[in-house]
This record gives sequence, C-alpha cells and structure tokens, in this order.
Amino acid sequence: MNIKILDLCVGCGACAIISPEVFEISDNKAIVNPERIEHYEDLCLDAAITCPVNAISIEEY
Ligand code: SF4
Repeated sequence: MNIKILDLCVGCGACAIISPEVFEISDNKAIVNPERIEHYEDLCLDAAITCPVNAISIEEY
C-alpha cells in the first residue's frame, strides 16, 4: 500500500487521531510515515474514508 496526501488537505487532524502511527500533522498538513503503513493498513483505510476532503490517496499493490 502506498499513501499520498493531496494538496486538498486542510490539516484537520482526523487521520492522525485514527492512525497516529502513520499520520502526523506538520505545518497544518498531514504527512505520512511510509515505514509504518504495512502494519496499520486497516487504520489507514479508515483514515482515508474519514478524511473530510478526500485528501488521502491510497494505492493498493
Ligand atoms: S484527515 Fe484529511 S484533511 Fe484532515 S489532516 Fe488528514 S489528510 Fe488532512
């Protein structure tokens, strides 16, 4: 799984609450820790579904 944060991100913090192991907020935008994704894929999907502006782009292998 690969995750990109699109420029649409409004920095609401929801993804970082759902999956703090993968997402964090920096300068009012979400950033992704790619090394952690494989251990938290279900939570990453939850975060993507929850994102209010659909800024979490997930590519499944
Ligand atoms: S949930 Fe979406 S809008 Fe909110 S910080 Fe995460 S990527 Fe950005």
